[in-house]
Amino acid sequence: MNILKNLFIEKCPKCNDVLVNKTHTLTAQIIKFCPNGHYEKEFHPTIESYIEKYLT
Ligand SMILES: [Zn+2]
Repeated sequence: MNILKNLFIEKCPKCNDVLVNKTHTLTAQIIKFCPNGHYEKEFHPTIESYIEKYLT
């Protein structure tokens, strides 16, 4: 059950804030990002995984 929960409640590796969901208007890709601008990840359906980005 913890694994399932972690898929939906994800946190920023830097500040531990809960990531915010956003859907890209053009590509309909799901983007999750830290509200404090540390980190974001983008879901790519073609490879069925997230591409992670650390923002500095
Ligand atoms: Zn953060």
